[in-house]
Amino acid sequence: MAKYTSKINKIRTFALSLIFIGFVVMYVGIYFRNHPLIMTIFMILGLLFIIASTIVYFWIGMLSTKTVQVICPNCNKPTKMLGRVDMCMYCREPLTLDPELEGKEFDEKYNRKK
Ligand SMILES: [Zn+2]
Repeated sequence: MAKYTSKINKIRTFALSLIFIGFVVMYVGIYFRNHPLIMTIFMILGLLFIIASTIVYFWIGMLSTKTVQVICPNCNKPTKMLGRVDMCMYCREPLTLDPELEGKEFDEKYNRKK
């Protein structure tokens, strides 16, 4: 089984880890409270991570408007797909909107072709 999750989920995980890294960096900064300069640097770095994650969340919002809602043929749940090929959010069934690719082995590369 390919280690592939639906794209939106993948980006969401990325945004969440950015927030987490941001808080860890800020937390490390607290250890340097006797060195205001170092502490400030850590605080700003942490803030940058959190800002970056906000941007990624905004990007998810933009991407979400481009997703197509389909009923998964495997589990019959409504799922969202992005690009030519994506995977069901629930059962990870490969999905395609392109009839040419139907039945072919799932490959993320198809999204990069025109
Ligand atoms: Zn499914």
